[in-house]
Amino acid sequence: KELTDINYLASEYLNLAYQSFKSKNEGVDIKLITELDPTIPKIELVRADIGKVLLNILNNAFYAVGTRHVGTVHALSLEPMVIVTTSPLEGGRGVEISIKDNGPGIPSSIKDKIFQPFFTTKPTGQGTGLGLSLSYDIVKAHGGEIRVESQIGSGTVFTINLPLT
Ligand code: ADP
Ligand code: MG
Repeated sequence: KELTDINYLASEYLNLAYQSFKSKNEGVDIKLITELDPTIPKIELVRADIGKVLLNILNNAFYAVGTRHVGTVHALSLEPMVIVTTSPLEGGRGVEISIKDNGPGIPSSIKDKIFQPFFTTKPTGQGTGLGLSLSYDIVKAHGGEIRVESQIGSGTVFTINLPLT
């Protein structure tokens, strides 16, 4: 584990995920917003692992806002955006990172399943269904928590809590 600046890590992976999205979706622009609290404490973590978590959730967010969803009202016409926020946990016990998108949202009928291995709603070849299951395990191994809130037609927020050590 390494003592890590979450704000730096989050911006680095946001750029990485956006570059990767842009390389596959020419001409699709997504508004990126960061609200990074400069006072958050540094966290002891396995950087490559938490990096994977951020990348998985960010890739899902870009897919949600940047892909046409057949059969839903939501389309690219809304200004697509991804918002990354950091804030300290109460009493300086750790850090909360949230990744919000204004994509189509997650139907309540599948909300219980998204953290299960191999669960995916993506077309064959576009999703393994392993991203969130792996992310869940990594966050748990760090003593943290991951949760999701979503509203059909307005978007999704994934929130990760990480304790100091
Ligand atoms: P994959 O991305 O390979 O499908 P994940 O484990 O990362 O696997 O995600 C599982 C499923 O959760 C996705 O297929 C999708 O149905 C849903 N999901 C995850 N993130 C979002 C999001 N930001 N907006 C809407 N649906 C999402
Ligand atoms: Mg994924």
